[in-house]
Amino acid sequence: MYLKSIELQGFKSFANKTVLKFNKGITGIVGPNGSGKSNVADAVRWVLGEQSARQLRGSKMEDVIFSGTENRKPLGFAYVAITIDNSDHKLPIDYEELTVARRVYRSGESEYLINGHTSRLKDVQELFFDTGIGKEGYSIIGQGQIDKILSGKPEDRRELFDEAVGIVKYKKRKALAE
Ligand code: ATP
Ligand code: MG
Repeated sequence: MYLKSIELQGFKSFANKTVLKFNKGITGIVGPNGSGKSNVADAVRWVLGEQSARQLRGSKMEDVIFSGTENRKPLGFAYVAITIDNSDHKLPIDYEELTVARRVYRSGESEYLINGHTSRLKDVQELFFDTGIGKEGYSIIGQGQIDKILSGKPEDRRELFDEAVGIVKYKKRKALAE
């Protein structure tokens, strides 16, 4: 399982439709300060269901929508889609490839899509339980997060281990049943 591509349109500084393609192995994204490197990581967090504008370095969710420049008008919506290669079926779905997309309008209206089908946030979250990929997963490690893990409360650190050994889905289901 690996990230094959990220498509962005109207998300933060990516006004035009932009597709980033990745191969297996390591990819580095380089560029001058303010050129949008961290925005790419924010896009991945966002499409996986991030609900906190602050986690995305904004103050309200609308801040993820391209807000315009001197010579370009603001856009009305933000769209991000990530495609994951699932040929090893590490994700619990039959598809060889999975595309998760999210779109939000200035009105606040929003939607999630899993392989083109309208889905709920819950469906997106459940796909990634115990994979380390979800927005709470350790696949995205933000600035300062390592310090937080090292100096965090034991209960918080425990969550990381739960995810790594793969028992989050059982805990969530138990909580739901109770
Ligand atoms: P650094 O090397 O300093 O970490 P970076 O490449 O990670 O820089 P980002 O933080 O990803 O840069 O990008 C910041 C840029 O994104 C800023 O120029 C900011 O104006 C722009 N930006 C953020 N949100 C929006 C938005 N909603 N609309 C337009 N531009 C935006
Ligand atoms: Mg940055």
